[in-house]
Formats: sequence, C-alpha cells, structure tokens
Amino acid sequence: MKKTFVTKEKLEEIIQQYPTPFHLYDEKGIRENARKLKEAFSWNPGFKEYFAVKATPNPEILRILREEGFGADCSSLTELMMAGAVGFCGEEIMFSSNVTPAEDFRMARKMGAVINLDDITHIDFLEEVAGLPDIISCRFNPGGNFAINNAIMDTPGEAKYGFTRQQLTEGFRILKGKGVKGFGLHAFLASNTTGNEYYPALAAILFRTAVELKEETGAQVSFINLSGGIGIPYRPDQQPADIEAIAEGVRKAYEEILVPAGLGDVAIYTELGRYVLGPYGCLVSTVLHEKNTHKRYVGLDACAANLMRPAMYGSYHHITVAGKEEAEDSELVDVTGGLCENNDKFAVDRMLPPIEIGNRIIIHDTGAHGYAMGYNYNGKLRSAEILLQSDGGFRLIRRAETPEDYFATLYIPGGMERKGE
Ligand SMILES: *Cc1c(COP(=O)(O)O)cnc(C)c1O
Repeated sequence: MKKTFVTKEKLEEIIQQYPTPFHLYDEKGIRENARKLKEAFSWNPGFKEYFAVKATPNPEILRILREEGFGADCSSLTELMMAGAVGFCGEEIMFSSNVTPAEDFRMARKMGAVINLDDITHIDFLEEVAGLPDIISCRFNPGGNFAINNAIMDTPGEAKYGFTRQQLTEGFRILKGKGVKGFGLHAFLASNTTGNEYYPALAAILFRTAVELKEETGAQVSFINLSGGIGIPYRPDQQPADIEAIAEGVRKAYEEILVPAGLGDVAIYTELGRYVLGPYGCLVSTVLHEKNTHKRYVGLDACAANLMRPAMYGSYHHITVAGKEEAEDSELVDVTGGLCENNDKFAVDRMLPPIEIGNRIIIHDTGAHGYAMGYNYNGKLRSAEILLQSDGGFRLIRRAETPEDYFATLYIPGGMERKGE
C-alpha cells in the first residue's frame, strides 16, 4: 500500500490557509533521500549529483538540495538564472542543453557552468559565441536499441540527443586541438527505469567509451555523467530502486573497466530529477463534482494543467482519498479535471473508496515533472507550491497564479476587469 507523507489533519490545517489545488513537498523525505544517494556513491570521491532543475524548478527546493551538497543541471537560460539566484555557481552547475540559443551558451559560460555539448557543430558555435572552457563534456548517443539482458529499455536511435560514436572521436580531437584540457562524457539512454541494472549497464558503456577515446585521442576523461533515468514506484506493486545496489553495480564496472585503464580518478556525476524529488511531492485537490452517466466520474479542482503526465503519457499516479485510507476500494471511477479535453483524467477505471463532493484527493508522486510541466490551456491557472518543512510547519514556496498573471502578457486596451465584481 502506498502511503502519503501528510496526515489528513495536517492537510486540513494547510488548506485553511491555502486553498486547493496545490503541490505539496516533503522536506524531510527530500533530505533523507538526498543523503542516501550521496552515501551510496561515497565510494567515488568526486561524486556529485546535479539535480535536473527542469523536474522541479523552484528556488526553495533547489536551496534544500544545494544544502545537501547537490549541484544543478540546467538546460535553458531561465533555469540557469534560477540556479544562479539560489547561489549555484561555477562547477556546481551542469549545462546540458540541446538546440541551444547563443544567449544560453553565453550565460552558461559567464556563470562558469560545466558545459555538456549535445552536438558536434556546437563546438564551433560555442567557440564563436562564448569561447571554449578548459573542461568540456560531450553527450553520447550510441544509436540503435538500448537493451539490458535482451530486454529493450529504449531506442536511442530515435532520440534527437547526443553525438554518434564516430563524432565523439572527432569531437574530442577537435576540442583537444583547440586547447581543451579536460573531458566529460554523458549519456541518457532510458527514462524512469525501475530495475537496478540501468545505471551499471550505462556506466559500462560510458566507461568503455572513455577508455577507447583515451586510446584514440589521448583525451583524459575526468568525469562521467550518468545523467537521469532512475525511476520511482508510481504503482503500489512496484519496488523502489535500490540505490545501494545501483551504486555498487556502477562501482564494479568502474573497478573492472576504468581502474585497469589508468582512469581510476574519474568522478561520477548524476543528473537525477525524478528519483530525487518524485515521491516527495503530491498534488492536493478537492472533489468539485460527481457525475454518473455511461461511467462514474469524480471531478477535481485540479486538472491536467496542474499535472500533465497522465494525459500526456497515460502515466499511472496513485490516488488516496484523505481520511479514507482504511476504507475499501469499492467504486470504479474515472477521476477527471475540468479541461475541455477527454484525456484530462488522473485515473481511468480506478477502484477507490466511495468519494463525495468536498473530499480531499491526494495524487501521489508529483514531486518531479509535475508542477513543472504545467500549462494554461483553457485559461486554467497554475497552482501554488507548498513546502511541508522538516519541523512540521509549512510555507508557501510559490503562490497560485491569478487571472492577472494569465493576462499579463496581453495587450488589452483599458486592462482586464472581473466584470460584476
Ligand atoms: C530530464 C533530464 C534529466 C532528469 O531526468 P529524470 O528522468 O528526472 O531523472 C537529467 N538530465 C537531462 C539532460 C535531462 O534532459
């Protein structure tokens, strides 16, 4: 059974102050998990997690992670600005972008970020627009299918990211020729992986590639970035990733491949987003409407604009009816938002306890790629974000949007009024 990190009593206390819907984050859970991750990789003295800012772009969350010793992985100008505002600077920032505007590269260079190039043509482009740094990383895409024990995990051959194997050799040669001194290697080959084999398999590929590149070009790889991709148990029957087993698998590959090749001082970096934040956020909403037609529908004050994953990928997000944790799941329902889009459903044909108007619905595991993927379709407003602090208190870390925010970018003669108010 999946449990929520907040009690019904605490939830009602929060709602008295801040109306639903909102995303709620669990500081205690975030910190404990961050420490577990660091501990698991402590065999590698250079280990650093660069949290993928896109997963949960909120300065208060980033501040907590920085306090835990994490860096920030950014991919756009505004993500860089946010990381900078929280105090991340220099090598605490990884810039892993693609289709990169010149302005973004300039900002990344100005901040002293570690740059991870997505394409061989970006060597000349970066040199031209912002100059090349002493240390640079390249993103590898081996193409084809990425399989572990014959099971296809993903299809890098269809992915827009990264250099081909041949381009890596060529790129490293060019970069060396231009005076670059240190190199990093990066790849992201599968997303939301639930087994413990992904990182060790990816590490082995990158480690071998680093050894080959050293032989071919003389380039010294100083870090290997395993990027994101460790998944979380969205479904109640799934097991959480065993981070210790994963880190141990990476260590074995390191000992087998890198150490004998004289690369025993390579630092391991990660750019986890989902694993670091996913389980430590939930979307809290209130039942506005019940409808019984061809099916039974329960309508919430939250919609896909607050959490896009179910509509976009058909993703499962577990649902708890606050205060009915012990009740029997006796009703088959679709849980919906109010968008004029029939895919605006948080759950389809889900067995849940009997639900009434006014019940609080907790949608689990929205801490990463939740609020962040929000949008304003149908004029729906983005929700607030609230932090449940380690000391049991809570505070607003992003206010909810107002209609004024929604209209702020428009040119409306005389402005926009709420007629009738
Ligand atoms: C999205 C992304 C991540 C984070 O992915 P998760 O699945 O959240 O772990 C890390 N690195 C890059 C380059 C990404 O695009």
